Amino acid sequence: MNPFDLTGKTAIVTGANTGIGQAIAVGLAQAGAKVALVGRSDMAETRAAIDGESLEIRADLSTTEPIQRIVDETLAWSGQIDILVNNAGIIRRDDAIDFTEQDWDDVINVNLKSLFFLSQAVARHMLPRGSGKIINIASLLSFQGGIRIPSYTASKSGAAGLTRLLACEWAGQGVNVNAIAPGYIETNNTAALRADPERNAAILGRIPAGYWGKAEEISGAVTFLASAASDYVHGVVLPVDGGWLAR
Ligand code: NAP
Repeated sequence: MNPFDLTGKTAIVTGANTGIGQAIAVGLAQAGAKVALVGRSDMAETRAAIDGESLEIRADLSTTEPIQRIVDETLAWSGQIDILVNNAGIIRRDDAIDFTEQDWDDVINVNLKSLFFLSQAVARHMLPRGSGKIINIASLLSFQGGIRIPSYTASKSGAAGLTRLLACEWAGQGVNVNAIAPGYIETNNTAALRADPERNAAILGRIPAGYWGKAEEISGAVTFLASAASDYVHGVVLPVDGGWLAR
């Protein structure tokens, strides 16, 4: 038996139209899972990259309004949910001294509030079955302060805390809750940083691996945390960061 095999499993991935979420959805499908692709944008590109069954669920996670529908539509499609990847996320940059309440609320709503309530809604299905895998996409800002991204740092530090809390509550009932902390990865999320020559050089100079990570380099770790290979792993925030935190 291959402990990484996800044949027969159904996964939900939020923010699956692009970037890290797209790579995660493709990776889970390659391991054998059926994948429900959740987000506010068209999923055609991701569906085309998936050689297997997928479902598109259009949902804006800036409020909790679509959360029960995401669970209901996935269950109507496949009858079970084995894996949830809370990947959808946004970032807003400004000096802390000028940071607006809008930029605070927008980021916290997607990155933290919807992450919690979607986990809760999915766990109401997983806990009675006695199995499930929830994987949150955290960040280096789950460990570090950063600069000019106060709501993002708060949300990702909060996501790490919730990962541990939910693991403590649900580990004994067969549900694993873990997180991945991607390092600096080439996606829309980091386009502004990469476009700034000074910041780009400073970041590159500090990454032991010496390059910006590719979205595909996150998906193997997610597949591990989604599979039986990680059945005794609970409440970790696993950095996939080219060595950044080791420095
Ligand atoms: P990205 O390319 O900007 O992707 C973000 C995804 O989240 C997109 O699919 C986006 O959909 C979706 N999303 C945003 N707001 C949403 C909403 N209200 N409702 C539904 N979906 C929404 O960035 P990424 O780098 O792949 O980010 C994915 C995750 O990794 C995020 O949680 C991010 O914080 C985290 N992360 C990224 C890095 C990095 O270096 N790139 C590092 C650490 C952590 P749209 O395309 O429709 O906006």
